[in-house]
Amino acid sequence: MKSSANRRWFLKSLALAGAPVVCPTVEADETDGHESGATSSGTMGVLMDITQCVGCRKCEYACGQAAGFNVPPIETFDDRAVFENDRRPGPASYTVVNRYAAGESPERFVKVNCLHCNEPACASACLVGALQKTATGAVVYDPWKCMGCRYCMVACPFQIPAYEYDNAFTPQVRKCTMCADRIANGARVPACVEICPKECLIYGRRDELLALAHDRIRQHPDRYVEHIYGEHEAGGASWLYLSDRRFADLGFVAVPAAAPSHLTETLQHAVFKHWAPPACLYGLLGAIMWLSRRPDDEPKTSPAVPTMPPRLKGAVS
Ligand code: SF4
Ligand code: SF4
Ligand code: SF4
Repeated sequence: MKSSANRRWFLKSLALAGAPVVCPTVEADETDGHESGATSSGTMGVLMDITQCVGCRKCEYACGQAAGFNVPPIETFDDRAVFENDRRPGPASYTVVNRYAAGESPERFVKVNCLHCNEPACASACLVGALQKTATGAVVYDPWKCMGCRYCMVACPFQIPAYEYDNAFTPQVRKCTMCADRIANGARVPACVEICPKECLIYGRRDELLALAHDRIRQHPDRYVEHIYGEHEAGGASWLYLSDRRFADLGFVAVPAAAPSHLTETLQHAVFKHWAPPACLYGLLGAIMWLSRRPDDEPKTSPAVPTMPPRLKGAVS
């Protein structure tokens, strides 16, 4: 515990001091938040069909078990009183199920967790590459790299990462891992997917899940809204949702399709990885501004020496 605290103090000190070293070459590497081979089409994901969920919360139980949390007996998850208030994932619960009721319409349940974005803002914001989009599609967290700045929490458009404020010595950022360890150890599917009695969670390749979701909408246009949440939001995500209600009525935030600039992200990680001096950073940012300038920003003429406006020329002479 002590060594971890010292490591964070050391990293924070370095980040603030900005040790001057050689200007880095810009390259996508293991700290740019995207491991090589991680493409949105080849990655895995989960499709939740909200129309099939009955709110049993067994997924919450299985998730807590898989994560090694201190989970109460499964019967306690039958308690419907928790639906009185919207809940958010927390440091000891990677996923929660919320209920939405609207007049005479049947109630709907939404499982909330990290969406494992294709271009995760949390990873973009992390100065030390503690969050990574892996080749499987999962966005995973390395507590040994984390310096506790919590920029990821600010950056996430879905307000997912939670922080262990109660842990005085080794606090970590916590969020759904898409069961990356469990899958790496041979499990076929995430724990929440496995336990779901209604099979409303489907684990598979993201492109195949999208094809399945589009097919369901095509086959049952009276049953589903024509929107797959996560297909485009924030640049797309590994976790996808099908619904028969407008997502805005089910607690989903309206997020633009644009993802953070990959160029800026790569530069940021390269700069902070090598602790480049501020002048180098300003030079890089200036280069980005110059490269991204609009055509009408170009000067119309390129005089060799500064000239005086004609009206003032006469006044001086
Ligand atoms: S939902 Fe938030 S925490 Fe999860 S990958 Fe996207 S930006 Fe990161
Ligand atoms: S994928 Fe794994 S970590 Fe994520 S909510 Fe499901 S069980 Fe929990
Ligand atoms: S286990 Fe399945 S049916 Fe039960 S609440 Fe979770 S997603 Fe819904």
